[in-house]
Formats: sequence, C-alpha cells, structure tokens
Amino acid sequence: MKKNMKDLKLLPKLRVAKHIAELPKSGIRDFFELVSSMDNVISLGIGEPDFVTPWNIREAAIYSLEKGHTSYTSNLGLLSLRKEVCKYVASDYGVEYKPENECIITVGVSEALDLAIRALVNPGDEVIYHEPCYVSYASEIKMAFGVPVVVETSEKDEFAVDPEAIRKKITPKSKVLLLNFPCNPTGATLNKVQMEKIAKIAIENDLIVITDEIYSELTYEKRLHSIASLPGMKERTLFLHGFSKAFAMTGTRIGYACGPADLIDAMMKIHQYSMLCASTTAQEAAVEALRNGRNVMEEMRDKYCERRNIIVKGLNDLGLPCLKPRGAFYVFPRITQTGLTSKDFASKLLMEQKVAVVPGTAFGACGEGYVRCSYASSTQNILKALEKIALFVKNIKAPANKKGK
Ligand code: PMP
Repeated sequence: MKKNMKDLKLLPKLRVAKHIAELPKSGIRDFFELVSSMDNVISLGIGEPDFVTPWNIREAAIYSLEKGHTSYTSNLGLLSLRKEVCKYVASDYGVEYKPENECIITVGVSEALDLAIRALVNPGDEVIYHEPCYVSYASEIKMAFGVPVVVETSEKDEFAVDPEAIRKKITPKSKVLLLNFPCNPTGATLNKVQMEKIAKIAIENDLIVITDEIYSELTYEKRLHSIASLPGMKERTLFLHGFSKAFAMTGTRIGYACGPADLIDAMMKIHQYSMLCASTTAQEAAVEALRNGRNVMEEMRDKYCERRNIIVKGLNDLGLPCLKPRGAFYVFPRITQTGLTSKDFASKLLMEQKVAVVPGTAFGACGEGYVRCSYASSTQNILKALEKIALFVKNIKAPANKKGK
C-alpha cells in the first residue's frame, strides 16, 4: 500500500499530456475570474454581444423542441441549414459552395477552427498567423502538433497584416495561413489590394488559407469581400463563419466551414468521431437566423457603429490614442503614455475604478502597450466607463506632474 502511494507521487507529472500541460491558460479567462468575483464592475472586457438573441430565432428553437425534433442530424449538419448557409455565403461573399459536400455545420467557429487545423496540419507543419489575435490560435495549432509562426501587426499599419511580412515568414514547412479580418482584438480590416497581395503569396507558395470571418457582417464603412472570393482562392481556402457575433447567438453554439470537398470531408471525419453533430435545436434556430434575421442583425450593427464612434472619440479625448476600427466590436487604444504596462493598466483600472478591459498582451506579445475595450456594451455603460477611465488617467498623471514641479 505504502509503495503504491509513493508511486502515485509520480503521477501528477504523467497524468496530463505534455503538450497540453505546456499550454498557457487563456489570458482573458484569468482576468475574468477576477472580474466575476467583484461587484459593480463595468465590463468592456467580454467579446460577446450585449443583445439577447432576436426573438424569432429563440422562438424557432422553442418550436424545434415543441415539435419533438430531438434526434441527431446528419454529421455534416441539417441539409436545410447547409442550403441556407451556402445561399448566404454566395449572396453576401460571392463564393458558391455545394451544400451536399462543401459545407459542414460545427459547434461554433471554435470547433470549425479546431477541425480545420487538425485536418490540415501534420506534426511540425508551420501555420502562419497574425498577432495581436484571438486567444485560441496559437494553442489550437500546438494542440495539432503544428508550429505557430507569428506575423506581428502594428498601429502604423492600422493593424492590417503586411503581405510582405507574411512572405518573409514562409519556409518549406509552411502549410497554412490563418487570417482573421475584421480582427479580434484590433478591429482591423484588410482592403482589396492587401487581400490580393496575400492571395498571390498563398498561391505562389501553395499555402492553404483559413479565413475566420466571424466578425464579417460587423463592418462599418463598407462591406468587405472574403479572400475566398478572389481568383484561384476558393480551391485553397477554408471559409469559417458562424452566428455568435452578428446574430447575437454566442450561447447557441453554431458555426460552419465552407471549402473544397476533400478538406470538408477530412474535417467531417474528425467531427463525426469527436462531436457527431451540432445541436439539432440550435441548427433549427440558425436556419431562422438566415431566413429572417437580417433586419435585426443590421439594427444591431448600426448600434455598434454608434457606440464605436462614441468610444473612439472618448478615448482619444482622454489622451489614449485610438484608431477608428472598421470592423468587429473592439477598440485597441494605446496606453504607453500612462507609463503602465498593459497588464498593470488593466488590473489597476479594475481595482481603482471597477472598469474591466483586457490587457493587449492576452492577444500576443506585440499587444503590449494596448488594451482591448469591447463596445458590445450599452451606450450608458460605455459613457460611465469613459468617465471612470478619465479619473483613472488623471490620477496617474497627478503624481507624475508633482514630481516634475
Ligand atoms: N474567432 C474569433 C476571432 C473570435 O473572436 C471568436 C469568439 N470570441 C471565435 C472565433 C469563436 O466563436 P464561436 O462562438 O463561434 O465559437
């Protein structure tokens, strides 16, 4: 017995797979554990709509259950949903996919991303992506035993990825290029010329492009094209999208991938063994979102646009320089002039003024000097948060001024 106990001591090292033990926990989650333990915090931290899912979509979920639609769907997802998805992607993004074999319904874009990376990446293959970026990318790549290769983006380029910087990172091991525009956390978008240059690089170097378009409806000046629609790109692109952001359906957990049949088939294999299918109720709700959700989606987008304008002006007026992002629902103001690191800025702001923002470093090392503020929050909350940030910044400046005198 004693011997067994001794042996057990070794187990903690062995219990968790090495590559999983080595993964960092998401910087956002750590921070929000702290936020959720505090009262009366104004949060500009969470990356999800403050709107409730539109009523007709919720009702469709209720009807689905009421009608007793409680069994599995096809592994690829309901054909009716795949048909709606392909119709939507053709009309709004200009790319035609076949619902029968070029589209798979997933549990959020999160699962689509996981399937795409696992289906494409051999151990040691390099996946190029841009930072600051969504917290999952590096870990998703590592979980597939791929090698994450970062291309940094910067404020001087409005956080768009420089095509030449991508080219410089290409090696014989490069296999995948992962893009996310409009971008979380910067709100950056790509223009057509930048996209064409990236497409050319992908074609010349035989890269497969994964494009995470989860924020694509939330663009404020003009609707953008998908890289998948450029000549020669459809056959080498996986187009990932979902319902979480534009339709305010984060809890419904529906996403999808469209792409070449061989890649969708490979993703389907992983999906059928790991997930089987996405929730039937949620899929029926998603059908309703695509059939009758456009007006409400556009109303929400207009609201985000108003809030974007308020927060951008507010932060700039406070001396926290902030670009006016063309998409998503985040701003990424620079905070270096406060003399604080991103992490200190966010934790002091939380402790002193009870306003939650996310340190830019949660999205990659080059996010240092910035914080992410989400404006998927009521105008009233945004205005209150701005008042409190003003007090916070003033209090930081005050001791420094005294020193100077
Ligand atoms: N990609 C990006 C860029 C995101 O910001 C998020 C969610 N914050 C996701 C994917 C995952 O979204 P979903 O809810 O569809 O899984």
